[in-house]
Amino acid sequence: MKKLFAVIGDPIGHSMSPIMHNDLFAFYDIDGCYLPFQVKSENLGEAVKGLKAIGAGGFNVTVPHKSNIIPFLDEVDELAASIGAVNTVVNENGKLKGYNTDGPGFLMGLQMLMPTTKNKRILIIGAGGAARAIYFTLAKEKPAIIDIANRTAAKAQHLIEDCPYPVSSTAYALVEAGKITAEYDLIVHTTLIGMTPNIEEMALDVNNVRSKSLICDIIYNPLETKFLRAAKEKGALIQNGIDMFVYQGALAFEKWTGIFPDVQRMRNNVLKQLGGNGC
Ligand code: NAP
Repeated sequence: MKKLFAVIGDPIGHSMSPIMHNDLFAFYDIDGCYLPFQVKSENLGEAVKGLKAIGAGGFNVTVPHKSNIIPFLDEVDELAASIGAVNTVVNENGKLKGYNTDGPGFLMGLQMLMPTTKNKRILIIGAGGAARAIYFTLAKEKPAIIDIANRTAAKAQHLIEDCPYPVSSTAYALVEAGKITAEYDLIVHTTLIGMTPNIEEMALDVNNVRSKSLICDIIYNPLETKFLRAAKEKGALIQNGIDMFVYQGALAFEKWTGIFPDVQRMRNNVLKQLGGNGC
């Protein structure tokens, strides 16, 4: 019998996960189908119960439900619990277990360009849900420092205090951080600034970034944000959010099926939807 997989969020129409996962089910000859469901916050508990009752194999969770879903699950793995957010749920013999593949997905994509983050000096711009997943995941890799810059500096400080893994970190306001970008080997932008349609905006001044440092933006629409373009002009290596998106999806697919899928195929598929060649 066909197994149901899904993504729940609100809004959900823009999600590229259905195209990516349905292609994988066909490619690996798995009798599954992946559907998007728009779920309003007030219906989250009922929606989770329903997916469990009909025996869905698993599902992804996106904005705004990543944190609020936790009380409705039977179990949450250690990293997801520390982050306080779940983006992947697996139906393990009738019990729903939550995972977070956003941070590990970012790390796997990053490793294509920076094989290790051990002893690296890292700056994360933003202190929201994605920053939290990336920060906690990178903190486990024993970097020299991970500083956080955010519009609301107090939120960056809270993030640092919440991190269960020991790492040296300082919270900065965005303007302050813009002056010291030369100190970092890796800068990861995680705010909403620069996303379509506001493509002429940039969170941080990149005039001082070191050439050959790696600058990532987890936004993938547009494929090259103004921030990435400016960093590239300074001679930095750049990476957009496609790799994080593809690897978080690959890790979810592996949890549901036991198969780690062909990420190049996934990447090409997503790029085709976005109509570009990436960077
Ligand atoms: P979130 O929890 O709402 O966090 C938003 C962050 O953006 C906060 O740091 C917030 O700062 C900052 N921000 C928002 N508007 C701002 C403005 N006008 N000026 C300065 N800072 C502003 O969102 P999220 O879930 O972390 O997602 C953030 C981004 O990551 C989105 O673009 C999302 O599409 C992307 N993302 C990509 C992937 C991927 O797979 N590539 C996965 C997840 C998320 P304050 O704290 O001051 O409000």
